[in-house]
Amino acid sequence: MQDYLEGLNDAQRSAVVETDGPSLVIAGAGSGKTRVLTFRIAHLLQQGVKPYRVLALTFTNKAAREMKERIGSVVGQGIAGSLWMGTFHSIFARILRFESKHLGYPSSFTIYDTQDSKNLIKSIVKRMKLNEKAYKPGSVLSRISAAKNDLVTPVVYARDVNRTAHDKASQMPMIYEIYAQYMKECYKSGAMDFDDLLLNTNILFRDFPDVLKKYQDQFDYVMVDEYQDTNYSQYLIIKKLAEKHQNICVVGDDAQSIYSFRGAKIENILNFRNDYPGYKLFKLEQNYRSSQNIVNAANSIIAKNKGQIQKNVFSANDEGSRVRVLKAYSDVEEGFLITNDIFERRMKEHCEYKDFAILYRTNAQSRVFEEALRKKNLPYKIYGGLSFYQRKEIKDLLAYFRLTINPADQEALKRVINYPARGIGKTTMDKLTAAADNSDQSLWNVLINPNIAQLGINAGTQKKLASFVALIAQFKAQLENLSAYELAAEIASASGIMKDLHNDKSIEGQGRIDNIDELLNGIKEFTETRQEEGEPAQLVNFLEDVALLTDQDNEKGDDINKVTLMTIHSAKGLEFKNVYIVGVEEGLFPATQSTDSEKNLEEERRLFYVAVTRAETNATISFARSRYKYGELTYSRPSRFIGDIDQAFLDINPEDFVGNERPQPSFRKPMGAQSSPTLKPRIRMNYRSSGAGAEKPKLKFQSSNTNGLQAGMKVEHERFGVGEVISIEGVDPNVKATVRFVNAGQKQLLLKFAKLKIL
Ligand code: ATP
Ligand code: MG
Repeated sequence: MQDYLEGLNDAQRSAVVETDGPSLVIAGAGSGKTRVLTFRIAHLLQQGVKPYRVLALTFTNKAAREMKERIGSVVGQGIAGSLWMGTFHSIFARILRFESKHLGYPSSFTIYDTQDSKNLIKSIVKRMKLNEKAYKPGSVLSRISAAKNDLVTPVVYARDVNRTAHDKASQMPMIYEIYAQYMKECYKSGAMDFDDLLLNTNILFRDFPDVLKKYQDQFDYVMVDEYQDTNYSQYLIIKKLAEKHQNICVVGDDAQSIYSFRGAKIENILNFRNDYPGYKLFKLEQNYRSSQNIVNAANSIIAKNKGQIQKNVFSANDEGSRVRVLKAYSDVEEGFLITNDIFERRMKEHCEYKDFAILYRTNAQSRVFEEALRKKNLPYKIYGGLSFYQRKEIKDLLAYFRLTINPADQEALKRVINYPARGIGKTTMDKLTAAADNSDQSLWNVLINPNIAQLGINAGTQKKLASFVALIAQFKAQLENLSAYELAAEIASASGIMKDLHNDKSIEGQGRIDNIDELLNGIKEFTETRQEEGEPAQLVNFLEDVALLTDQDNEKGDDINKVTLMTIHSAKGLEFKNVYIVGVEEGLFPATQSTDSEKNLEEERRLFYVAVTRAETNATISFARSRYKYGELTYSRPSRFIGDIDQAFLDINPEDFVGNERPQPSFRKPMGAQSSPTLKPRIRMNYRSSGAGAEKPKLKFQSSNTNGLQAGMKVEHERFGVGEVISIEGVDPNVKATVRFVNAGQKQLLLKFAKLKIL
């Protein structure tokens, strides 16, 4: 048996062995908080504490699994398996199943996901004859969720002036009533949503003292990781459970609180001090995860926030390399740069794929990296999110593309015939499917058969079917004349998908719109590149490419040795040898909506701190000077967060940051109309102003004048960056240049399309 106490410093060891009474461990990233919790549990078990008497709450299932395994290696997997260890939701769902009868729920209650909840809200809004445009299911749901996490019941909600005034101001005065009905409906269906799991546990413990007592007695020891991100509902459950034995140990870092948008309350740490006046405070100061440079860089970031709990964090590891900042010409080049770097570093430093993580602010950013990684044949996995092309909204739009190209594609047809909703129901589909089966024809052929009237489908529905057929036919008719991008954009809007997504104002809804925009950006990129390369660039060609991409299996199984792609939020608590934080640009990170208040900006900065502190040996930050947004090449500036890092710990090319491109902590000034000093004078900038254009000027490279282009010349391309002309061949108007780009590799470009500038 391994002597686990050996692998701890003095402060950590005290926190592990002093198991009785309330303990608070507040310490910076990488200082061993999770390790302390893990070993503390192992220690208890070694001392003979029964595993089922220990309750340990983690933030993710993955963390729980890893801790269990670690503990198992000390005390045996069988014993570790009997611990009450898991996420809040999983643990309290388990308790609720045991105790459901007290609340009148069946023990087999359903757990609703967000989509189920939204559908239910939609139907309630309809039934109440409220304005469906005003009451967006996503917005209503997040109001209900916030109330639940504050333990505000519908009755209390109705009397709560702050909440009701807020709802009135946002044109949804009836939320309190929707909330009441929603609760009733869930109850009738024997269903709980995620927030209910916590709310109902609170109700259970409040209304059934015997039940509470049973669990208070059972759990001699209560432990919580990532305590800074607990909400009020969670806080109260923990408090009640620990009331009897008071053996509670919570670990956290206020500097890593990144979920306040979901109701997490940093005050829970401060409350701890009041709730358990005799608590022991353990301070862990040594970071074991990261090099000195990374720890120092991270410290300098978080020092820019006001109101942190004072902490000292140092590393005794190697000084290591400085935090590198990479500039890319475009998001596409950013993908190339990072994947090239991974490729080379893996060779040079004998790393494995799993030693690399690419972290981004928003899920939609994964696309360019996925594509670059695939092109270089590097295995990767997307964690905590579906692969880009597996996401529902992407699959919906792709289904329209498939149907446009091949109307006989039955799965695609079934997927979108009633999405967005056009009143074609299941009964109709059953009749159509039966007719198709009987006549051995495709569904599409049944749809376009003039005898459709004989299938017993009423006239109203027939009309709806006919207009769907007309819609697809209209797309099909444009297949030849429009480029992939033109047709894709037309389909996204004419199908009604964009409109449907715009109706949803929740955070997830916005994410879906971003994803569609990202797909359209990709198609634009594809179209332009193909045109430059003199290759066919129609929708059918794009779809062929995508079909090959999605064919690859990259997310099944427990992919052990792969590059990890994830959002920073889901990287909390994890660590990697090499970390790439990408898209560190104003408007993206920090996100535009976070720059309007100091409070939100500080949360974004904590997120940046979380990102940097995931790295053990190398931290790389990248930003792209331009990226496609809403189908337009948009100029971007490096994030103020780069400017927050003390220069002494940065490896940055000063030439990348001349003039007003220099990242500054409070950089807010919109770009002026003059061209950026970093651009060579020969590149003509053409800023077109439009709406938000003042803040984010659109960038357009002039089409090239090909006269005088010769082999050996250095050129610059708006997406591929700098390269050298290898050869020129062909006759006007089909002259092609072969260019070897520094980062994007060799390409053959049709000069009439290629946006090349001679340097
Ligand atoms: P975060 O705030 O990011 O959640 P943390 O405080 O929970 O970080 P851990 O993940 O527990 O930190 O530890 C960071 C790394 O340092 C882990 O790889 C852990 O195994 C290692 N580590 C912690 N303490 C020691 C120690 N005393 N000796 C050797 N390695 C240690
Ligand atoms: Mg941790």
